[in-house]
Amino acid sequence: MHNNQTLIEADRLMTVCNSCRYCEGLCAVFPAMEMRTAFSSGDLNYLANLCHSCGACFDDCQFSPPHEFNVNVPQTFAKLRAESYQAYVWPKAFAGFFARNGLMISIATALCVAGLILGFVAYNDSSVLTGSHTGPGAF
Ligand code: SF4
Ligand code: SF4
Repeated sequence: MHNNQTLIEADRLMTVCNSCRYCEGLCAVFPAMEMRTAFSSGDLNYLANLCHSCGACFDDCQFSPPHEFNVNVPQTFAKLRAESYQAYVWPKAFAGFFARNGLMISIATALCVAGLILGFVAYNDSSVLTGSHTGPGAF
């Protein structure tokens, strides 16, 4: 069914959580999980990318280690997210960068975001970012 160990573990955890549902108010993962009774690999990748690793479900869980169920949703989802970035990155040739060049990827992403904002300011009126807005529709 699933083609790697992380997906198999995520499937096991979501099956346990779907029976328990104690954490359904904590974040977007659990209400989305409750819309399925079985999980495809795509479902699990989607759920992993809804998680922001806050750790609340780990702290609240009565089945987290040392319990024999060994429920650790944030750890498994973090691994699954990293694998999904490698699997779905475009262009595909960049896939290995996520495993070996985390710092470079972070710097490049930050520079791209900064470039986008500066380009937006250069192309538009900079007062949209720095000016105070008054009148109808303003905060
Ligand atoms: S993380 Fe633990 S407490 Fe929360 S829904 Fe899953 S099994 Fe239940
Ligand atoms: S660690 Fe992830 S799944 Fe758990 S409560 Fe936080 S966001 Fe939700």
